[in-house]
Amino acid sequence: MKILIVDDSKPIFMMVSQMLKELGHDPIWAEEGQKAIQVLSEHPDVSLILLDWNMPVMNGLEFLQLNKEDKFFDHPIVMMTTENSPEKIQAALECGAADYIMKPFTSDILQSKIEMVIDMM
Ligand SMILES: [Mg+2]
Repeated sequence: MKILIVDDSKPIFMMVSQMLKELGHDPIWAEEGQKAIQVLSEHPDVSLILLDWNMPVMNGLEFLQLNKEDKFFDHPIVMMTTENSPEKIQAALECGAADYIMKPFTSDILQSKIEMVIDMM
């Protein structure tokens, strides 16, 4: 499954990318939300997005808000976040995030989260 990782941190991309490859997935990268929209137009076969919260240019919540209006991506979006405030998580879910995953996470947690949101579709 092609999975788009949207995160401004290259080390985090490399770590998550390695986990996804070991789980048999095909990860690609965008550094922030604006870039993610461009990457999605070039890769219409992306099945899931792992979305960081804090990023320059367009952050994760702004990306979700735009997608809620424009619906350019209709597969699951999972927020990767260090934010554990219930209000922020609620805001992300209301803007269309399928679920969230707290950083740092293990490969097992990532796998179970991916299976869960794909089953929900
Ligand atoms: Mg970040």
